[in-house]
Amino acid sequence: MSSYNVIPDNLKIIKDKIAAAEKNAGRKPGSVKLLAVSKFHPAEAVIEAAKAGQILFGENRVQEAFQKFPPICQKYPQTELHIIGQLQTNKVKHAVLIATTIESVDRIELIQEIEKQCARIDKKINILFEVHTGEDSKSGYTSRDLLIESLQACKDGKFPHVIPAGFMTMAPFTDDKALIRKSFVTLRKLAGELQEQFPSLNLTELSMGMSGDFEIAIEEGSTLVRVGTAIFGEREY
Ligand SMILES: *Cc1c(COP(=O)(O)O)cnc(C)c1O
Repeated sequence: MSSYNVIPDNLKIIKDKIAAAEKNAGRKPGSVKLLAVSKFHPAEAVIEAAKAGQILFGENRVQEAFQKFPPICQKYPQTELHIIGQLQTNKVKHAVLIATTIESVDRIELIQEIEKQCARIDKKINILFEVHTGEDSKSGYTSRDLLIESLQACKDGKFPHVIPAGFMTMAPFTDDKALIRKSFVTLRKLAGELQEQFPSLNLTELSMGMSGDFEIAIEEGSTLVRVGTAIFGEREY
């Protein structure tokens, strides 16, 4: 079946491509971080990546992550886990136990619950606001007003355990590169405007780009690319 020994090579290839894309775009070397998306892949695959020095991992389902990651985090204490999939309120309790960042924040009710659960365990957590920028994506804030309401509440100090760090988006699933780019440009512009509107928040993280489109995302200002298939291979659902 899957051979995990290709994972270090794949990581190297992706990192080289990220470095080349940074250079092409005239961006500082190292300005783009790599999140290895390990959803649907077993702990053995994650360990292979961790052994190769990978620190940031992404999972989209809390239950799966909760089974997979605690032993890995114990063995590789530098490991940081980001939750990147749609998050139900009742999963937040477990999510905050294992994650350092929740990238898929799409409503204020979710932030309220994250605050509540983080306060309970006295932990601070980073969040990214997921923004809906592409036609067929189902997730993310669709209303600028609601997004502003969430940012305002953060700015007003309503969520002391929640650290707003920036934004996340998913481009539409299409081969049309212009459409994909448009989605990333939309997020970059919005992020710039909101950073201006909320100067007291540090909204510098732009999580955009996946296996098929991370080079475009880097050209458009991504600081964090979320790559699964190109590192771990095809997922078996
Ligand atoms: C699965 C997933 C990824 C990684 O997708 P690949 O195409 O396998 O690189 C990135 N972001 C999110 C939100 C995902 O759910």
